Amino acid sequence: MTRKFNFGAGPSAIPTSVLEEVKEELLDWKGKGLSVIEISHRSDDYQELALKAEEDFRDLLGIPESYAVLFTHGGATLQNAAIPLNLSSKKREASYVNSGYWAKRSIKEAIKYTNVKIAASSEETNFSFFPPQSNWEISGNSDYIHITPNETIGGIALRDIKEETTPLVADYSSSILSEPINVGSFGLIYGGAQKNIGPAGLGFVIVRKELLGSAQDFTPSVMNYSLLEESSSMFNTPPTFSWYVAGKVFQWLKGKGGLKAIGQINQKKAKKLYDFIDQSDLYANKIEESSRSIMNIPFLLEREDLNSKFLSDSSRNGLLELKGHRSVGGMRASIYNAMPEEGVEALIEFMKLFERENL
Ligand SMILES: *Cc1c(COP(=O)(O)O)cnc(C)c1O
Repeated sequence: MTRKFNFGAGPSAIPTSVLEEVKEELLDWKGKGLSVIEISHRSDDYQELALKAEEDFRDLLGIPESYAVLFTHGGATLQNAAIPLNLSSKKREASYVNSGYWAKRSIKEAIKYTNVKIAASSEETNFSFFPPQSNWEISGNSDYIHITPNETIGGIALRDIKEETTPLVADYSSSILSEPINVGSFGLIYGGAQKNIGPAGLGFVIVRKELLGSAQDFTPSVMNYSLLEESSSMFNTPPTFSWYVAGKVFQWLKGKGGLKAIGQINQKKAKKLYDFIDQSDLYANKIEESSRSIMNIPFLLEREDLNSKFLSDSSRNGLLELKGHRSVGGMRASIYNAMPEEGVEALIEFMKLFERENL
């Protein structure tokens, strides 16, 4: 068996040791003679697993007691509707920062449930930077401010985020657990699991408890945060397999030394790749330096006619899923927690050689 380096944006790489454990346990979990995906989510054994996963997630992020942690269905996208439904029944207005593809998706969904005001946008420069926090114009009537701290497709990020007087709501799908953040600065943090946590199907919501309890009347029950909190995220059957794998990824991350340690590794990985791209004649990343994502690194080839050769050669060399999103073109290397430093080094070596041979 050879595991290749997977640079996919999501669903994306999962640590090999986690997959091995899953494989080992799949037919017979804890010596019970059945699989973890064949048992009731309400059984004592599963409850223990679920609680432990939440505890580890809380530990890793330093989530205060005053916040609820919810595991949800429907990825990040379902929360794009759940957030205005749960948090915007009072003033029925919310401010959104338009930083790229995913911010736009959030805005498009939220418009159905609340009055959306655009607090800032970098669309005019084709999202070459993240609108700085000091420039946001927040409508005084906003129930919350929505941001997308890591734009997975555009490759821009906002990494030093300060608390606002209006609750900040952040889509952290593609950078959760990539480095320490101060959860206390946010009203709500959410995302899908399939980038940096585990298999698709699971989402997470971390929400200040005092914001709960005023969902709009017609909010579907499985999207009602108060009901989810009361039922420990088991209002109905949760995605049990994804939750189980997520628990293992949290353990793996703790074993790596937690967010401070992985954050340093992630910064090092990203710096190596950006430094290489910046000095090369073939590759270019057009994002302003202070806005560059450390998780998703898009780059263009100065000679577009080499794109398909780049993709087939890289894939032949064990470097997979480097094709950029169709809306941006070119390439994109997603280097989440599960991408080891050797993977980034192998990519750089390949890119060097490809440049030398083809330019
Ligand atoms: C992947 C992604 C989404 C969409 O996630 P789904 O789980 O497919 O709904 C939303 N926001 C960001 C920032 C993402 O990276």
